[in-house]
Order: sequence, then C-alpha cells, then structure tokens
Amino acid sequence: MRICVIGAGPSGLAQLRAFQAAREKGDEIPEIVCYEKQPDWGGLWRYDWRTGVDEYANPVHGSMYRYLWTNGPKEGLEFADYTFDEHFGKAIASYPPRAVLFDYIEGRIKKAGVRDWIRFSTVVRDVSFDGASGLFTVIARNGETDTESAEDFDHVIVASGHFSFPNVPYYPGFEGFNGRILHAHDFRDAREFEGRDLLILGTSYSAEDVGSQCWKYGAKSITVAHRTAPMGYDWPQNWAEVPALEKVDGKTATFRDGTTKKVDAIILCTGYKHHFPFLGDDLRLKTANRLAASDLYKGVVYTGNPRLFYLGMQDQWFTFNMFDAQAWWVRDCILGRISLPDAADMADDWTQRQTDEDAVADDHDAIVYQGDYVKELIAETDYPSFNVDGATEAFFEWKKHKKKAIMAFRDNGYVSPMTGTMAPPHHTPWRHALDDSLDAYLQTGSEAAE
Ligand SMILES: Cc1cc2nc3c(=O)[nH]c(=O)nc-3n(C[C@H](O)[C@H](O)[C@H](O)COP(=O)(O)OP(=O)(O)OC[C@H]3O[C@@H](n4cnc5c(N)ncnc54)[C@H](O)[C@@H]3O)c2cc1C
Repeated sequence: MRICVIGAGPSGLAQLRAFQAAREKGDEIPEIVCYEKQPDWGGLWRYDWRTGVDEYANPVHGSMYRYLWTNGPKEGLEFADYTFDEHFGKAIASYPPRAVLFDYIEGRIKKAGVRDWIRFSTVVRDVSFDGASGLFTVIARNGETDTESAEDFDHVIVASGHFSFPNVPYYPGFEGFNGRILHAHDFRDAREFEGRDLLILGTSYSAEDVGSQCWKYGAKSITVAHRTAPMGYDWPQNWAEVPALEKVDGKTATFRDGTTKKVDAIILCTGYKHHFPFLGDDLRLKTANRLAASDLYKGVVYTGNPRLFYLGMQDQWFTFNMFDAQAWWVRDCILGRISLPDAADMADDWTQRQTDEDAVADDHDAIVYQGDYVKELIAETDYPSFNVDGATEAFFEWKKHKKKAIMAFRDNGYVSPMTGTMAPPHHTPWRHALDDSLDAYLQTGSEAAE
C-alpha cells in the first residue's frame, strides 16, 4: 500500500508522526510519500518573506508576518506526545512568537526521524482517481530539478491548509486609490506602516492582529471597518471601529454612515478560500470555513470518495492537537482498525455535525463543541489522552483576558493540559517586546534586562 500526503505543515506532519508512532510500536506501515511545495516543513509557521510567487513560480503559501506571536494560548495547541516542557527543557510563557512555535513543531518531527518521507520543493499539480484500479495518480513538479513525476497511490491525504488563498473583495474607487492596498496574506512587516493612517477591512483574527502589530510598531492611526458588528474591544485611543466601507476616492475612504477618513493604506483582512487547484470536481472539498466542514465524515473522510482524506479543514480553535487527533484516526482507518459506515451514514454524520454547530450559541460553546470533537477522535485511537477540558479552560481564560485588555492579553499565562505546568510570565510585556526571535524569547528576565 502507498499513501500520499499533500503538505508538510502541522497537519501533514501530524500524519507522518502518526504512522511513525505506529511503526515505533512494531506495526507494519505502508509506504508514505509526502509532497511539500516549500523547501522546508512547518507550513505557515515557516516564515516566507516573499509575496506573490515563490522561487518556483508557485503562489506563495505563507501568510504569516514578522513579529507574529501566537494569538491564542500555546496550552490550547500543545502536542500530547511532545510537550513544550520536553522540547524547551523548561516552562515557557503562553504566547510564543512564530519562530518559537516553528522550533517546537520541528523538534517533534525531527525526533520522529521521517524527513526522508518528504519530497520538498515539490508541488502537487494534479490528483485523479481511477475507479477501475482504485488508485489515485498524483502528478507533481519538483521545482529544484524542474521535472514532473506521476505516481500511483492507494490513499491521498490532503493537508494543504486553507489560509493561503485570499478572498479579495472590490470596493468602488480601489483602482484609483492613491496608496497601497494589500490582503493580509501579503502583509509581512508592520514597520512598513509606521507613522501611517491605516484602514483595515474585516473583524477576523487577522484584522485584530494585523492592526495590533501596526499599532505596536508605530502606525499613526488604525480604522477598522466592519460589515456586521464591531469587534468591541477596549482599543487604544488612535484606533477606531467604523461601519462598512462604501468607496474610496483618492486617499479618502467613505463609510456607510457617511463619515470619511483619509488613509495611506488599506489592508484587506477579508479571509481565505478553501482552494485546491490540484483537484478536480469529483475530489475537491467545497466547504465554508466552519467547525463542521461539509462532506467530511468524522471531519476527515471525503464522502465523495472515502479513500481520500482531508486534515485541518475546519475553522480552528484547537489546532495542532486536533490535527493529531485527526491524523491518528485517519491512520487507523487506513490500517483497517476503524471501519467506515455506508454512504448514507457518513452523510448523516457531517450533516448532523453541522446541525449541532448551527445550534451553538456563542464562542464559549463553540470551543466546547470543538473540544468534544477532539475528545471523540482521541477516544477511538491510541493518541495519548489529555485533559481537553484543561485546554478549553485556557481558551475561556484567553477570551476573558482579551476582553479585559486587548493589548495586554499576551502577558497572561495558563496551565498546560499535558503536564500541569503553569506558564511563567514573559520577561517583557508584549507591547514592549519588539524582538520576536527565539533567543530573545527564551532569555530569562535577568538576561533580557542586561
Ligand atoms: C496569519 C496566521 C496566524 C495564525 N496564528 C495561529 C496561532 O497563533 N495559533 C494557531 O494554533 N494557529 C494559527 N494559525 C492557524 C494555522 O492555520 C495553523 O496553526 C496551521 O498552520 C495549519 O496547519 P496545516 O498543516 O493544516 O496548514 P498549513 O500550515 O497551511 O500547511 C500546509 C502545507 O501544505 C503545503 N502545500 C500546499 N499546497 C501544496 C501542493 N499543491 N503541493 C505540495 N504542498 C502543498 C504548503 O506549502 C504548506 O507547507 C494562523 C494562521 C494564519 C494564516
């Protein structure tokens, strides 16, 4: 049996680790080939300074930026089989910068010793399924050698992420705007906007965090336009929330309530598309960004062709340990330890999950809902059981801390659901910590003071 994994981000790496964990226990595992279009692993956590196209003329995958710190507590994403304490050899604070998270992700996968399962700099261009042979043919191009390959697999696992292809709206006047318009996908460095008046469209995490970064690194003012409701945090004095944008004229933005504001740049924090340019209609997931994705039994098996799996396609409160729960479950399905019900039952599964999601009243219940999903999957495999309720508790505290002080929530710490360790405070409050490097983050308080 041959298995293809598309993507070596946190989801794809979880899949590799799941198979390697089975091998470690003495099980026989299939041959695994992971295609990764970037020259290294880590997915979005591998910082890419480029925008537009990459070194091989593929669309740049990266949507992360310099100075990005996790926007949720690390206690909500911790691996159950590889804790932060194990990786860093000491307790670290709760909102690490990107480079610290990359190091953590890399630590586990290096320990697993599966780098040679991955074909780097190799983009999957096409996947097709042959009903007669029951095999998928995967066509991929290696950017380094500029050569194409076609190989057959029994199963394909799509772990290509869904925060890379921007959703770009149009507003009247955009073509004549006398400043810069960019999507959050292309935002790389807040310092570019120092001393500038910024308009941000959207109320997502991106809007909140890109705005916060720009504020921290010296933007003159931040105006956030919302289509439905404002984010409603207690923002700094140079930050305003306004109704939806109507049009721009020169540098002047006009909002739905008739007010105007002159701005230097417009950042579109307007979300991303689930986009799979390598899949035809018969295999391609079409779903909104929601907790219960359409057409996925147990959130992972594509009901249109149950030999095809998707990882990490949900909207996310939980991330790394949810991807693990999914990857262990998919592994066991492929190894024949879990059997699938018939098509009607699989369809009932995801529609019922969506009905349950639609009944969720607020963010608190949405966190519980996703936590319950993680528990459900973990209970069906040998992924190390952990205190999922402890992780949801960290999320609840996080929400409260944001409400209390949006520019200081990252100064709080939480209890690890894996080790019970209480995270120490970081040596410098987030708003004053301008160096986001691994070394700066791991310094002790006295080292940082020197
Ligand atoms: C700006 C930003 C900030 C975020 N902050 C946080 C945070 O603080 N905490 C948190 O838990 N989550 C955060 N996330 C969520 C993030 O989605 C997850 O943490 C995680 O990266 C998802 O992992 P993934 O493997 O599913 O997808 P990705 O990380 O997107 O990895 C997908 C991989 O697939 C590869 N790939 C794509 N297409 C192909 C192809 N055709 N052929 C071969 N390879 C391909 C890509 O190169 C990439 O390596 C953030 C996301 C964004 C965009």
